[in-house]
Amino acid sequence: MTVARSFVTVCRIVDTSFSTEKLAITPVTAAWVHQHKVAVGVLRADLVDPALSGNKYFKLLPNLQAARQLGHDTLLSFGGAWSNHLHALALAGQRYGLRTIGVVRGEAVGPLTACLQDAIAAGMQLHFVSRSEYDCKADPHWLQQLIDRFGPHHVIPAGGANLAGVVGCQQLLPANHDYTHVMVACGTGTTLAGLVTSSRVPVTGIQVLKGAGYLQREVAGMLDGHGMQATCPWQVLDDWHCGGFARTTPELLETMYRFEADCSIPLEPVYSAKMLLALVALVGRGYFPAGARVLLVHGGGLQGRRSLA
Ligand SMILES: *Cc1c(COP(=O)(O)O)cnc(C)c1O
Repeated sequence: MTVARSFVTVCRIVDTSFSTEKLAITPVTAAWVHQHKVAVGVLRADLVDPALSGNKYFKLLPNLQAARQLGHDTLLSFGGAWSNHLHALALAGQRYGLRTIGVVRGEAVGPLTACLQDAIAAGMQLHFVSRSEYDCKADPHWLQQLIDRFGPHHVIPAGGANLAGVVGCQQLLPANHDYTHVMVACGTGTTLAGLVTSSRVPVTGIQVLKGAGYLQREVAGMLDGHGMQATCPWQVLDDWHCGGFARTTPELLETMYRFEADCSIPLEPVYSAKMLLALVALVGRGYFPAGARVLLVHGGGLQGRRSLA
């Protein structure tokens, strides 16, 4: 596939050690899996790089290269106080020698989160804005004001949600895996879009924000907008947000802690644990046929785990 080759080439320009073969799959051997006659594996995007964890690595590298091609040495993006995306961007900027600016949702009150402290330590300049201002992050006038204020820069949308991000996520699935279904947690749906345009088996996305059906429509729109076709059946389920983005329930946390103890795979409550909660429920109600082999895509970022401390 030409896209695959050029993606790897692009990433090697940014990082000569880049390889999509680094992704291991850890089989899950918990009792509830065997009871229901399915097999479960976790695609360990959390292990792809020690600092730039997970799907953010796949979304950021092609964006860094795009910025360089446009002659920019400064990157600006958006996120919350526990944003895996801003954290990865700050560390990528430090490693690859690019200046980074993080526009943070919400006024700076009280001490900085550990996530934002890391970002500052990595050289990221933070700019706090009110929630209403943050909601303008796609408005060209506001983006121009940011250029006036911070100088010329390359904008990466929140969560790395652009074509380069989708193309990056097309590289997540190993070519020769033997799973029959794929599951992924969805924020912007960019990772899902990459998976459904590269997978040969059905993909189920678990929406972590509240809003019936909205992400299914948005991802369909994203594919249309980029002129991309799904290569497999896919669906977004919207029942496992646990009250909304970054909200938790006792059941969510309990399921997460139990899985971590059983499997020694770190999760976080914002994304991966909601995918796990959905998986346990879906397996229990026979959503997957007997004999199914379900591959969970671990999104990697663990900033939400630190937020529990
Ligand atoms: C960002 C993130 C996601 C969601 O990715 P999208 O492409 O925005 O849907 C899922 N899991 C983890 C751990 C993440 O950091």
